[in-house]
Amino acid sequence: MFLRATTDAGDDPAFNPASTLRCVSSPTMTTTALEVRGLTRRYGARYAVRNLDLDVLEGDVYGFLGPNGAGKTTAMRCIVSLIRRDAGQIKIFGETDLVRARRHLGAIIETPCFHSWMTGRENLQRSAELAGLTGKEVNSEVDRVLERVGLTERSKESPQNYSLGMRQRLGIARALIGRPRLLMLDEPTNGLDPAGMREIRELVRSLALHDQITIFISSHLLAEVQAVCNRVGIIQAGELRAEGRVDELIADQVEGRVVEVSAADMEALQTALATLEGVKVLGAARAGRLQVHHGELELPDLNRMLFEQGVSVGALIPVERSLEDVFMEVTA
Ligand code: ATP
Repeated sequence: MFLRATTDAGDDPAFNPASTLRCVSSPTMTTTALEVRGLTRRYGARYAVRNLDLDVLEGDVYGFLGPNGAGKTTAMRCIVSLIRRDAGQIKIFGETDLVRARRHLGAIIETPCFHSWMTGRENLQRSAELAGLTGKEVNSEVDRVLERVGLTERSKESPQNYSLGMRQRLGIARALIGRPRLLMLDEPTNGLDPAGMREIRELVRSLALHDQITIFISSHLLAEVQAVCNRVGIIQAGELRAEGRVDELIADQVEGRVVEVSAADMEALQTALATLEGVKVLGAARAGRLQVHHGELELPDLNRMLFEQGVSVGALIPVERSLEDVFMEVTA
């Protein structure tokens, strides 16, 4: 995990993205699914993406985050070669050759479009043929991907009759044709209602866990990303600000070391806290509690130091941080 300074050019409670989705725990032993180095794309004089490096490891569900206009879609369009890049290298499972790299790749960039005069199945058949499948291969692959996204029953209808969530799943089915090892999804839950979001979330988890597909998702929905992704990259103004495991990013930043301290004598608590180096009172929490940033001081030491000053601490409760807190700090 690293942080880059801004000055540089239905839920399964047992599911833990950080631990479950890693096929191999050590990054040094893991294949890199997508390696981006120095990716740069300008529109006129303005940089949409600037000197971007990304590392997506095999088995990751990687969240690609950034505020509006940060350059996410532009970067993804460059990675899948929908637009040219001005500079930079892209490797997909070690392949730099576009044709060979594309064999590993399935993608939905922006809203998927379909022919409304064809059924969902016919749309997929056409895509399978364009992907080079012939004869019986076409139907068996279409059956497989329809089943995989749960659309078999509705496959004889036009996508026009589908809900937004179903169209998104049909798009994922199309991206799954040819069994890609890396699936790139640009804001797959955009505009979906909570049920549709949940379906996509569960499909993404299932594709990662059961089909061993590495998944790269751009999104604005930080809670959603925290629920499904094990690693993230955060970009702003076209540049990478942070990349790493979600759990490490949340835990590692010293700024996040906030605790609620309760004591019977609040005045004595405040006086004692004021004497401790690197400790800062952020304000009152609930009644009888102060929110305190404890810097590099570990909680048992904080407790001991307060006790030594005659303060009887009732409770020390760490304040849970979220990916949203990390995002706000990194993009501030
Ligand atoms: P959002 O989250 O809002 O979709 P994004 O992170 O995907 O944003 P991009 O759409 O990649 O960001 O845009 C990055 C920058 O590039 C923005 O300043 C945008 O205005 C600019 N940009 C994108 N496409 C073009 C284009 N075709 N012509 C000119 N400028 C563009």
